[in-house]
Amino acid sequence: MSKKNPNNVGSSRRDFIRNLAFGIGGVSALYYGLPEAIGRNIDTRLSSIAKKSKDKLGIALVGLGSYSTHQLAPALQQTKNCYLAGIVTGTPSKAEKWKEQYSIPDKNIYSYENFDTIKNNPDIDIVYVVLPNSMHAEYTIRAAEAGKHVICEKPMATTVEDAEKMVEACKKANRLLAVGYRLHYDPHNQHMMKLGQEQTFGKIKTLEAAHSFVIGNNRNAWRLDGELAGGGPLMDLGVYCTQGVLYTLGETPTAITAQFGEVTKPNLFDSVEQSISWQMEFPGKAIAKCTTSYADNGNILRAEAENGWFELSPAYAYGGIKGKTSEGPMNLPQVNQQALQMDDFAQCVMKKQKSIVSGEMGLRDVKLLIATYEAARTGEKIKLKL
Ligand code: NAD
Repeated sequence: MSKKNPNNVGSSRRDFIRNLAFGIGGVSALYYGLPEAIGRNIDTRLSSIAKKSKDKLGIALVGLGSYSTHQLAPALQQTKNCYLAGIVTGTPSKAEKWKEQYSIPDKNIYSYENFDTIKNNPDIDIVYVVLPNSMHAEYTIRAAEAGKHVICEKPMATTVEDAEKMVEACKKANRLLAVGYRLHYDPHNQHMMKLGQEQTFGKIKTLEAAHSFVIGNNRNAWRLDGELAGGGPLMDLGVYCTQGVLYTLGETPTAITAQFGEVTKPNLFDSVEQSISWQMEFPGKAIAKCTTSYADNGNILRAEAENGWFELSPAYAYGGIKGKTSEGPMNLPQVNQQALQMDDFAQCVMKKQKSIVSGEMGLRDVKLLIATYEAARTGEKIKLKL
């Protein structure tokens, strides 16, 4: 083993992150510590007084569902470089509630119908699309055409064509596009990248990734609707496994095989898969085995290398991520991933730098997800040239 202490982050961490194999600069925000406000009982009405300045960009959230309500809006009370400036919603009662809770002026509240007039609003620099998956493309493209930079939730799109159009629209409008890949800002997942890509335990031979949960019985939920979700747990949770394997290894797969799992709840899973397993082959000969399901529990990212192993479990949670290696437990802080992610994007906009979780990365992943479905459907090994 080449490093003395693989479980703690040393002073070379920033340098490593800067040099990550993604080939993109501008990630100095990645590993700053917890924002001061974390852990304090914040009065959101007071905190929203901090407003636009040259150091703070305005974000508008599109879609005020669970993730916006419980993760993004609270995280935006802890960001240093951006703030919650506006909302886009189809539900007037939500608009009233958010307006009161976050002191959002009427002029910064939009419906899906008048959304395009956001282009005349200098308070909004960044639009964050937090809608069901198949709606990501439309709102990302409309936002770019309105002159706004865009963060789009994962999976970036439900088809490769849509993902390509999104990248193209942002390029044409000269706007930045990023995907809400919050785990790139979590120290544990960053440490997996470091251990894997620096080959601290030697060359990786195998990787294992699983992300599953038991979904509720609401037959009408958009996650169970193939049209809106673009697929089942692979689109929603499996994307984290594919991401985790790729950033741990620092390689892109050359081939995928996959198998759909058994359907034990046909009343729920008639338009999306209940579960799927897939295997990826990599140029350096590593093999990854991944699974995801809406009828099981699982949350792990693990690598076996020549001289040891390293893993996270849980690996993909908003907090409480735990890591260990064959040398012992990882000793790393918990952070607000979403606050760091949005601050980094705001800094990218201010510095005119591409995000480390760019639209191109989102497009690559959509290609991988679609290839995974093709492998499961056909039973063939799908060869990839990405
Ligand atoms: P949600 O169901 O809680 O919210 C979806 C929102 O979209 C609601 O406000 C709903 O009113 C609105 N909406 C507009 N048109 C709709 C339509 N035709 N059908 C259904 N809803 C419609 O979902 P969520 O959990 O907030 O997920 C939203 C997006 O965020 C998804 O793309 C999901 O993958 C992503 N997400 C990401 C993370 C993460 O950790 N990065 C976590 C959760 C969700």
